[in-house]
Amino acid sequence: MSWTHERIEELKKLWEAGYTASNIATELGGITRNAVIGKAHRLGLSGRMKSKSKVSSVSIVRKRKMPTNRNSKIIELSTSVSEPMNPKTFAEIKDGLCRWPLGEPEDLDFKFCGRSSSDGMVYCSEHHALAYQPLNQARQKRTTRKRFKVG
Ligand SMILES: [Zn+2]
Repeated sequence: MSWTHERIEELKKLWEAGYTASNIATELGGITRNAVIGKAHRLGLSGRMKSKSKVSSVSIVRKRKMPTNRNSKIIELSTSVSEPMNPKTFAEIKDGLCRWPLGEPEDLDFKFCGRSSSDGMVYCSEHHALAYQPLNQARQKRTTRKRFKVG
């Protein structure tokens, strides 16, 4: 079977109307789906459906990923920045408040940070980060501290 001018026009029309290659093959008759795809390629018609679906799937993936990344960053920032220091004296400081020293213990106005600290921790998240800068050490100290507290 050969591609007559009419058949090519028919192929173009159906292709642009959104018919699948196998639909077009049935419509034209005596031709395989692959032959339709091959001809569409040569006519520069191919890629119509594929490129569209590719674009949309990429944008869906992006849409899904971006918000979660942003949210987790916002949460990290807000936990360390939102609460202002609430200086407490030695008498006022208690469990659950940050014991980061402000100034020298000899000073008359010596106080502790006083922000609420995360569970089981001595410092607020900001001061905890300052106190245990190397991550591995921080993990080790946190676990020993917890064990010590429970016992
Ligand atoms: Zn603190």
